Amino acid sequence: MVDLQIQYQTLQAEIDTEVAKVLGDARFILGPNVHAFEEEVAAYLGVAHAVSCASGTDALHLALRAADVGPGDEVITTPFTFIATAEAICYVGATPVFVDIDPLTFNIDIARVEAAISERTAAVLPVHLYGQPADMKALRALCDAHRLWLIEDCAQSFGARAEGGAYTGSIGEFGCFSFFPSKNLGCYGDGGLVTTSTETMANRLRKLRNHGSSAQYEHDLVGYNSRLDEIQAAVLRIKLRHIDRFNASRRAAAQRYDALLEALPLRVPCRDPHVTHVFHQYTVLCKARDLVVKALRDAGIACAIYYPRPLHQQKAFSGMVAGVSLPVTEGVARDCLSLPMYPELTDAQAQRVAEVLAAAL
Ligand SMILES: *Cc1c(COP(=O)(O)O)cnc(C)c1O
Repeated sequence: MVDLQIQYQTLQAEIDTEVAKVLGDARFILGPNVHAFEEEVAAYLGVAHAVSCASGTDALHLALRAADVGPGDEVITTPFTFIATAEAICYVGATPVFVDIDPLTFNIDIARVEAAISERTAAVLPVHLYGQPADMKALRALCDAHRLWLIEDCAQSFGARAEGGAYTGSIGEFGCFSFFPSKNLGCYGDGGLVTTSTETMANRLRKLRNHGSSAQYEHDLVGYNSRLDEIQAAVLRIKLRHIDRFNASRRAAAQRYDALLEALPLRVPCRDPHVTHVFHQYTVLCKARDLVVKALRDAGIACAIYYPRPLHQQKAFSGMVAGVSLPVTEGVARDCLSLPMYPELTDAQAQRVAEVLAAAL
């Protein structure tokens, strides 16, 4: 699905040098690379503050804690995402409220968000699925009108721009990023980051990620051990300098797939013309999915299903959402299939994937 070796090879000289420096300096936690990376990300995204942490899951958890979302609160989110989105809601004792997705973009359906708002709603947590921004203009207006927190799950959307040009992660009160190795901006282990526009929230996030600490052995609140380490920060600083090129290559590869697959009995999610998509995944809908998966596997081509079982149908949430039916999500989960996608994907590779698909269909 992703060739991480080829990317390392192209950046190896830079990465090896910087990682060796970290080892030589022997400052591994909350050192100069972490601070520099946070400033560089904030400048790139056009946000006031960026606070790194140990994972994308933690970024969501810390944002919800900083916002003081907790027991008795509801958080409206999408069922068509990685489980971490909803796990974080449960970590703070709040209840996830899953609403159906838009049949064209597979992002959260705004009308259904509005219909799900209750007295107990504290926040809305959209995901920019596959790297395509959700309708942030509508979500921002809705959250402002109802005085709700807007917390963006940007794990798949580093560098994507919403309508009007603002980067994902700069529109909600919080933007939560993952640097898991296979994400668009990925490190060589786990990593995450939260963006916020206020000093107050940035300070809360900095405390929460480091045992609630304001100064050494002074603990203002009960926090966590959730820090990005210096080696990962050093790697991320290098990759950040290349992210625009990587995302442009992903868009080019997606265009190539679009052209190659045009005549086949497949459907692709609708591309919102007002946003800049970063194609974390290239996903198609295919009625004959089992057959296509088998053909790709037989040809030695990777593929993956994001996501085969929506969150409202997961055992983990059965106590909270029993009996909910979300037909659009369920239909997309039945037919969706993601194809290999990474910046270095060649024309020849895309062509080969298309040939195998065409033969199978
Ligand atoms: C990857 C991912 C996460 C979790 O990030 P980790 O860094 O793996 O904890 C959360 N939400 C979405 C949508 C993701 O794709």
